[in-house]
Order: sequence, then C-alpha cells, then structure tokens
Amino acid sequence: MKPIEELLCQTAAMHRHLCPRQVLGVRIGLAGRAALGLDASRCDKRLLVFVETDGCGADGVSVTADCWVGRRTLRVIDFGKLAATFVDTHTGQAVRVAPQPSIREVAQRYAPGARNSWAAQNKGYRLMPTAELLSTQSVTLTVDLEALISRPGVRTACEVCAEEIMNEREVIYDGTVLCRACAGAVYYRPALDDAPAAYLSRKVDQVHQLMVPA
Ligand SMILES: [Zn+2]
Ligand SMILES: [Zn+2]
Repeated sequence: MKPIEELLCQTAAMHRHLCPRQVLGVRIGLAGRAALGLDASRCDKRLLVFVETDGCGADGVSVTADCWVGRRTLRVIDFGKLAATFVDTHTGQAVRVAPQPSIREVAQRYAPGARNSWAAQNKGYRLMPTAELLSTQSVTLTVDLEALISRPGVRTACEVCAEEIMNEREVIYDGTVLCRACAGAVYYRPALDDAPAAYLSRKVDQVHQLMVPA
C-alpha cells in the first residue's frame, strides 16, 4: 500500500488543493482495502467500489482504491454521503465504510492550535485512529453483481432511437430492444427550439406503439 502522504499528494494534484474531504476519502479507501485484504499493488479489476457521492471525497477513494469510472471499477451512487462500499468481485465479500458521526468536532482534539476548523479537519482526519474516524460494516449487495459487471464486447442497438447500448443495459419490452431512455428512464428531453411539438408527439407515438401492443 502506498503511504498516506503519497496518496494525498496524488488526489491533491487532481484538485489543485487538499481539503478534508479528500483526506477522508483516502482514509475510507485505506480502510476498505484493508478490510477486504486487497492491497493496491494488484492491477486487475477484482476490487469494485460504490462511492456514495461525487466530488473531492470520491477522488480520495478512487486514488486509494485505484478504482476508476473509466475502468468500470468505480460506480457513483449519488446519495450525497461520503461513504463507500468495497466489493471483492471474486468472493462477493463486501464492506461499507462511512465516517463516524461528529468527526468534525473530534478532529479538533487531534489538531490543537489549528488556525480554523478546516485546517483542524485536514490534519485531524489524517491522525485520527481508524475506529474513531470510520465505521466499517460487512454488507450484502442488493444489486446483481454479475449483471452489473456484464461481459466485455456485448452490444446491441435500441429499436427506437437506434443508438448503441453496451454492457447489457438494454430493456426488452415485449420482444423489443429499448435503451433505458426510450423505455422511459429519461433525464433529458430535446430542447423545445430543436424539437417541434410534431417531433415530440411522433417520438411519444413511436414508443407508445412499442410499449402498448395493438
Ligand atoms: Zn476539495
Ligand atoms: Zn433508444
């Protein structure tokens, strides 16, 4: 395992600053790896991490676990919490690591004379014993790990929008292959300027025909 100072430099370089959340993320990453007994020298994809927020803390976890969105070893489940679940994909063993309550206040004790609470947390989170800083709990995943990882090279195309779908993320509705957006799980719609009402109603009709058999 790399020394904590090296990990902090690595995450700070990505952010051009070092903040308490990065320190906490690094400590969470170290605790998660230790709990599973998977050291960072391995470069396979055995370790999978679910991190429960985006932002600075997530990068602290990522750097320490050496798990990345682009390698498909990091999944962001945005609960707005700086916590993470570490999964050994070979054994299915999983542990969730989260900060203890009130660590902001406890950190002050480990950094007497710090010029403000931000500086106290930055230093305190480095020095606090793991049990005082974090809780680690064995958990069972409620998601299908095999389906989540899927198989390399699998792809198909949506029968409505024709866009390619990777990693078996399609939805089959009544024998029709749909992407999740066309199946209704949308987080966007065409801007109205680009999408006259006629276009939108045609799109809705197309999906409707597929979803509701005549
Ligand atoms: Zn930050
Ligand atoms: Zn589609």
